[in-house]
Amino acid sequence: MQSFPDNTIIPYGAVLAAIEDRYGPLSQKVRCGLKSCRTSHKRGFIVVFRHPSDGCEQRGLLGHVCGRKAFGESWQEARGIFNIKIRTAEIETAAKVFREKALAILPELRSAIPRLQWFRQAYQILSQHAPGLMRLCVDGVRTKNGFLVREREGKMVPVLKIEGSQFFTSNHTLDKARELLLDIENLQRYMASDGASVREVERRLSMIGDLGRRWEMIARWMQAGNAALHPSNMRRVIDVVNKISRYEEVRMKGTVIEHQSRDTYGHKSYGWAMLLDVAEDIIPSS
Ligand SMILES: [Zn+2]
Repeated sequence: MQSFPDNTIIPYGAVLAAIEDRYGPLSQKVRCGLKSCRTSHKRGFIVVFRHPSDGCEQRGLLGHVCGRKAFGESWQEARGIFNIKIRTAEIETAAKVFREKALAILPELRSAIPRLQWFRQAYQILSQHAPGLMRLCVDGVRTKNGFLVREREGKMVPVLKIEGSQFFTSNHTLDKARELLLDIENLQRYMASDGASVREVERRLSMIGDLGRRWEMIARWMQAGNAALHPSNMRRVIDVVNKISRYEEVRMKGTVIEHQSRDTYGHKSYGWAMLLDVAEDIIPSS
């Protein structure tokens, strides 16, 4: 910014050319440049005006309430142009922040999607083939403070803290990650296009919301999935489920989960196996 024109007098008959900037609130008041005012204001505008004697452009200070009184309609007009300038600068800053955040997030987001796909599959497989285990975990997370509990003498006793509890309660993270990726790519494409307008960039930025927060939620859920499906956690959960479930028996051999359930008559209904840590192989390399 140029120097602060705090000694310039804006004489009677000066013509307003433009509003250059805002100032304040300052800790000290500075005197208004307007000859008819000269009051001290803590905030106001730096304006460019043409001197009535020679038409030369000069810069001066104008208190925040003095422009309308001194310049009437031309003040309103200059104010409108200045507001657009400020808004445009703000949107450009927001667009820059978006670009930087997007660059930081994109590689992680892209590599998260195949893993989230695997988590969703694991969730569906577990729900379908080990419904008792899932029911106990979901119930533990939702209503037992995140514990698997066992009934002992009419009391519910917490037995095991369920790791990665979010994994059991929300299955929409893959959709959220895909949405975020699409939002980022669409806006990047739009901003790089020739016909991009500031107003439309503003609208789209506000629709996208806080990139950082959206990514953090996804990253948190990823951690939950990693923790929940980690073989050591699964092993602990399975041990406890076998103790508290009457109708299901789950075993883990290496990385294979074997599952068997019995109905109330003791009939075995199905056996089933699933590989846990083949996840790494399933994930397509992008
Ligand atoms: Zn003033």
